[in-house]
Amino acid sequence: MEIAIDLDKLWAIRSALPGTWGLVPTMGYLHEGHLSLIRRAKAECDHVAVSIFVNPTQFGPSEDLSKYPRDLERDLRLIEPLGVDVVWNPTPEIMYPSGYQTWVEVEALTKPLEGAIRPSHFRGVTTVVAKLFNAVQPHKAYFGQKDAQQAAVICRMTRDLSYPIKIVVCPIVRETDGLAMSSRNKYLEGADRQAALVLSRALTAAKALYDAGERDAEKLRARMKEVIAAEPRAQMQYVSCADYDTLAELETVTGKTLLSMAVMIGKTRLIDNFVLG
Ligand code: AMP
Repeated sequence: MEIAIDLDKLWAIRSALPGTWGLVPTMGYLHEGHLSLIRRAKAECDHVAVSIFVNPTQFGPSEDLSKYPRDLERDLRLIEPLGVDVVWNPTPEIMYPSGYQTWVEVEALTKPLEGAIRPSHFRGVTTVVAKLFNAVQPHKAYFGQKDAQQAAVICRMTRDLSYPIKIVVCPIVRETDGLAMSSRNKYLEGADRQAALVLSRALTAAKALYDAGERDAEKLRARMKEVIAAEPRAQMQYVSCADYDTLAELETVTGKTLLSMAVMIGKTRLIDNFVLG
């Protein structure tokens, strides 16, 4: 496994190995969710690149960029047995050289949900992912359903910019008690860890209503809000029952539907989702 920081080294490694390449973009502090993406890439591609880059442009001014957990040595130890060809760990200066002024923006899909609460977030995500695509030139790129809107936005960007890359969206990996794995779970201490189960509990409750035949989207949203309101350590940011493709809020559930939410547990912001239909 090679480790590249600058673009020249990355490109030397990339161009020396013919065959199909899979890319797994991450911000590091890896967990089983990330590793599931890497294993899938390894199973489907001749070569795999993993990027580890805490992308400053996707964090808002009051967000946790400086506190975001980092441990490159631990990440490399976790990746090593998986047969990855190259780990790319660029610096912010390599990704955003002095005078940087070029951005990639997806319009309508980035406006609701996460975009409504984190206004410049997706501009940072799409810009960095476009740069990763240009640098690695993968045949396939792997993203998690955990960040459902991000996956939808990347699929849109890939189509709109004619990247010859297949986007593979992989299922959410959860702890045995239902908490969706996330690097930010590290922040959950004491009673917050237990309180964080409210997200999967609210989604499960809405899904139970759906399974019992409920198709009124407002009733599904109300059920999720009710479960979250019952947890004193939880502060809801949004709950959504939206069309899977457009992310527009629904009145009636008919086709593929995304139930999603963002909830503050103490100072930690968590997101989770389920797909219906
Ligand atoms: P991050 O390092 O948080 O930017 O995540 C890198 C990639 O891993 C993204 O495509 C995420 O959606 C994905 N990911 C994060 N958590 C999970 C999880 N619990 N299950 C599956 N994929 C995940």
